[in-house]
Amino acid sequence: MDVGPPTPANLLSVTITHLPARNDKKAMGRLMAEALQKKAKVHDVFAKYTIHPKLPNKRFFAGTYVASVQFLECPANEFPDTDTRETFPGWLEIRGIHYQVHYVGRMDHCSSCRASATQFHTTRDCNKAKCWNCGDIGHSKVECPKRDKNRMEDVEDGEPAPASDKKRKRTE
Ligand SMILES: [Zn+2]
Ligand SMILES: [Zn+2]
Repeated sequence: MDVGPPTPANLLSVTITHLPARNDKKAMGRLMAEALQKKAKVHDVFAKYTIHPKLPNKRFFAGTYVASVQFLECPANEFPDTDTRETFPGWLEIRGIHYQVHYVGRMDHCSSCRASATQFHTTRDCNKAKCWNCGDIGHSKVECPKRDKNRMEDVEDGEPAPASDKKRKRTE
């Protein structure tokens, strides 16, 4: 059986998501290949389709493109290491729209900074993120210094919350 040439070990399969259902698939694939080509050698880009069990003769665009890319600085018989893979973009900007790029083994890039991020970080680690507690920039709600302070004051006052008071009476 002919199975074609062996796949190089340094190929990485990436998925590009958030695509609208209606787009020119060929033109979009070409634009995507151009954008990816700046970071690695692009072997293939194709639109992904799914089939609905009730409509077996119809194909539906899955909102996703799959690309296989090759890091040329990486030997052909080796899978790229984490540092090499992290250089790959987390978002692609095509005609002013940002499309998320995923691959197995890497966390998703920040969804606030998107393609304008200068180094890898997740949405949680974003130093431009706005705190949901105090509204300051640069920390998350969980790490908010003002939130911790309020919590300490509550403990110092020692006043039991009404809810827990009620509960205690009911159990007596
Ligand atoms: Zn960010
Ligand atoms: Zn805060």
